[in-house]
Amino acid sequence: MKYVQIDTQSDPNSPTQPSTEKQKNLSKILVQELLEMGIDDAELDEHGYVYATVPATSSKKLPTICYCAHVDTSPDASGEGVKPILHKNYQGQNLVLPDDHSVVITTENHPYLKQRIGDDIITASGLTLLGADDKAGVAVIMDIAQYLITHPEIKHGPLRILFTPDEEIGRGVNAVDMKRLGADFGYTLDGGERGHLEGESFSADMVVVKIDGISAHPGYAKGKLVSALKIASAFVAALPRGEWSPETTSDMQGFVHPMHIEGSIEQATVEFIIRDFDTEKLKHHEDRLKKILEETIKDFNGAQFHFDVIEQYRNMKVILDQHPHVMDYAAQAYKKAGLTPEKISIRGGTDGSRLSFMGLPCPNIFTGEMGIHSKQEYVSVQDMQKSVEVMVELLKGVEEQN
Ligand SMILES: [Zn+2]
Repeated sequence: MKYVQIDTQSDPNSPTQPSTEKQKNLSKILVQELLEMGIDDAELDEHGYVYATVPATSSKKLPTICYCAHVDTSPDASGEGVKPILHKNYQGQNLVLPDDHSVVITTENHPYLKQRIGDDIITASGLTLLGADDKAGVAVIMDIAQYLITHPEIKHGPLRILFTPDEEIGRGVNAVDMKRLGADFGYTLDGGERGHLEGESFSADMVVVKIDGISAHPGYAKGKLVSALKIASAFVAALPRGEWSPETTSDMQGFVHPMHIEGSIEQATVEFIIRDFDTEKLKHHEDRLKKILEETIKDFNGAQFHFDVIEQYRNMKVILDQHPHVMDYAAQAYKKAGLTPEKISIRGGTDGSRLSFMGLPCPNIFTGEMGIHSKQEYVSVQDMQKSVEVMVELLKGVEEQN
């Protein structure tokens, strides 16, 4: 409840690293609290990353594990002046938020709440998001650190803590120093429902289509002018309506999605995102898209195009499959904490998708954050506590099995 009151919204339009300086306001507090716990290597670097170590208590040679969460909140809703409210012993009632009575959190809109009867639920007050994404993860990791430091009898290997900025704008790991981090594998604490274990993400490309038309004075353009705008419009209109889009796909289906279009007579640009769980299929989607473009442009004599594919991130499952113990340790820890691990595929990416390909296999663990990026965001205190329990069990399990 303390962390969410600090505005840490990131900004996709800022070129700086981190994108907003105010994110460091929370990071500084985290370093201070870690130092007060006795974690004396806690540091905030110039790029906005917090690194810290909970030293090993076991004499065995054990892998270094990283627990990671992001400090920034989504630009989709205001994160300024967040007033967290604790609804103790929730009984399934509508939660009407006091600062805007039109914001009502109900079990109809959020069926997961039916499983949380009796829990203590934290919400915002109606004017802002809560920021449980991902301050729930931050709080979980801080509590794990506190617990381990005050329980030296628990045997575990070295734990590296990493707090990142700018996850919400896709730049969370841009400036992370993997050498300084020095971990063998890791876990992001940035998932939703209790029991969910996310070891698969989309693979993602971006496609930038540039269309060159031919400009001429419109009064004397007969037989000369070729409008790049009309080609771009015809191209987007030629995309299928009933399939192959975010609005018509779910579960394990991929899609292509035009995100931005701009132009004039001479040149027009259309930007797409391409998504699939199967990395190979990205190429199929791109080929199909290119074919539609080629078909469209045939009707426009003299026009030309450029079709550029830019890699964004890859399905972390490819890496996690090469290091099966990373998911296994997590699944075992869930079971020790009395949960049935439910393996979930994320229709998006996490810091962990990219970290996995940077040499740190990194699935995503639940924290209880729900209704994220909105004024209806909430989190159960007991879910966060359960997440702490799981991640302590994980460290114990690694120690016991090595
Ligand atoms: Zn998040």
